[in-house]
Amino acid sequence: MISSEDVRELIEHKAQAGSGVLSVYLNVDQSQAVNLNRGFEAALKNMLRNLEDTLASQEQKKAFSSATDLVLKAVAKYSPHGRSLMLFCTPSGVIRQQELKIEIENSVRWSAKPYIRPLLEAFDEFQRYGLVLTDKAHSRLFTVFLDQVEEHVDALASQDVKHIKGPGTDHMLSQMHVQRKADGHVRHHLKNVADLLGKVAEDNQFNRLILAGPVAATNELQGLLPTHLRKLVIGTIPLSMDAGSSQIIEATRRLQSGAERAEEEGLVQDLITAAAKNNQAVTGLDSTLRTIQEGRVWHIVYADGYTPQGGECVNCGFLIAGKTVPCPYCEGEVQVVKDVVARAVSRVVNAGGKAEQVRDKAAERLHSAGGVGAFLRF
Ligand SMILES: [Zn+2]
Repeated sequence: MISSEDVRELIEHKAQAGSGVLSVYLNVDQSQAVNLNRGFEAALKNMLRNLEDTLASQEQKKAFSSATDLVLKAVAKYSPHGRSLMLFCTPSGVIRQQELKIEIENSVRWSAKPYIRPLLEAFDEFQRYGLVLTDKAHSRLFTVFLDQVEEHVDALASQDVKHIKGPGTDHMLSQMHVQRKADGHVRHHLKNVADLLGKVAEDNQFNRLILAGPVAATNELQGLLPTHLRKLVIGTIPLSMDAGSSQIIEATRRLQSGAERAEEEGLVQDLITAAAKNNQAVTGLDSTLRTIQEGRVWHIVYADGYTPQGGECVNCGFLIAGKTVPCPYCEGEVQVVKDVVARAVSRVVNAGGKAEQVRDKAAERLHSAGGVGAFLRF
């Protein structure tokens, strides 16, 4: 499996002038017909050709072509066991090659640093946060990954709002004029931040964004963000412009747990609704265990604290809720399993599926629907 250290290493990879990193995410799942007979290699070659067409400079093309050769060689030697292959390669060598048990959508990218956003999105524990601290005149940008804060000093060109002096009279109209002019500067500053943020998000690759600072500024900035960035915003929080690392981490944590709770509640709601409509989802222990046995579960969701006893057939592996009886599938012997949900979860994860434990309100809601449920592949 991939560790947080691995991800950090990729984040900290130093970009080199005139070079680049080829990042490859390749679905190699052998249960999918398109990937049989090394079909994933054909898919990769196709993507690389399309990517090459987008490169402008000869220097870039040359570096890209060296990296491409290395990637194709590595993939030619590779025999698939997992669901996805992830590979990062510079013109002088492969930085990292790793097989993943989870499915990641095919993509290739040529950039100054490893492209890790698909990785961050695939693993909940590797969220990387961007935090913009802004008032009406200045902005600072931070990224937070696993409780480490990095400030990107040059990222946002700080355009100071000029101190606007009144004309020295109390004349109402001229004061309004001055105020309007100042508002214009503020808007210009925030607009500038919103524009630059797109570029910064691309370079620094965070998948969640926090807007911090005085409420008036964060509200206005949120309104100015392009849609793809606004989607990353998990919240706004008041924070002093000279906030230090510990305050940044605390703000991130606070919004993170709020965002996670909200996501969990949404997930449970979706699960219950889909199950009620018989739309590729089930709730309750019996149905969940049955569909796992049938190989249909791709995402199991379970409530914190729900640990019922059950059984496992020593012959066919069927997991059974409640009292042990002869296996209903094969009449084999059934052994007691202390926490049958935990066993079910590891079964799903080992088969390449996802598992999510929900807490608090989401857990209460799921408890009332049986404590566990699953989204199905078919
Ligand atoms: Zn059995």
